[in-house]
Amino acid sequence: MQKLIKGIHQFQEENFRPLQGLFEKLSKGQNPETLFITCSDSRIDPNLLTQSQPGDLFILRNAGNIVPPHGAANGGEAATIEFAVAALGVKDIIICGHSHCGAMKGLLEPEAVATLPAVSSWLSHAETTRRIVQDNYGHLEGDKLVTATVEENVLVQLENLRTLPAVASRLVKGDLHLHGWVYKIETGDVFAYDSTEGQFVPVSQHQPSEALSRRRTVTI
Ligand SMILES: [Zn+2]
Repeated sequence: MQKLIKGIHQFQEENFRPLQGLFEKLSKGQNPETLFITCSDSRIDPNLLTQSQPGDLFILRNAGNIVPPHGAANGGEAATIEFAVAALGVKDIIICGHSHCGAMKGLLEPEAVATLPAVSSWLSHAETTRRIVQDNYGHLEGDKLVTATVEENVLVQLENLRTLPAVASRLVKGDLHLHGWVYKIETGDVFAYDSTEGQFVPVSQHQPSEALSRRRTVTI
């Protein structure tokens, strides 16, 4: 805790001043262009990763970067996404999974989270991911199996996102774009789903485009 308090002093003394003008502008309102949905994992820093500033990203985080589909029990996710899409008018939504995701490991090994009833229940929103992996990636194990699960989950959650009325409406209008990313913690690489290739490709080689529904497995 002391480390964090020391950090606040450092922020106020060294980091705030150069951004003071920006913060004063932001105090009058926010106009983020992107909704960034990612895992709660402490090893991900969306602003560091994208070199973005306060005011740039509207961020939604939870275990496993999960988006419960429309009609699921009332939760903060649908409200947060609706606000970003219908009130703030974000232009892009990124769902960003990551390597070594504990939530995805829990999905693969339900017994590991058996003593965590809220986690088990939450992961039911990724049951489609578990089923896709079980039925289509039986040849994989270890890290490769986790990678396939992380990637498939990003695609499944993008599909869940499309079921939300506010998102579906903006997609029909054509002014909202969905993107599926995976961040690799140990290398800093970010991969984006390329619907033409049907694969996740390095984001630097990827022309930003719509992450359209995929109809086949990804190659791990
Ligand atoms: Zn995670």
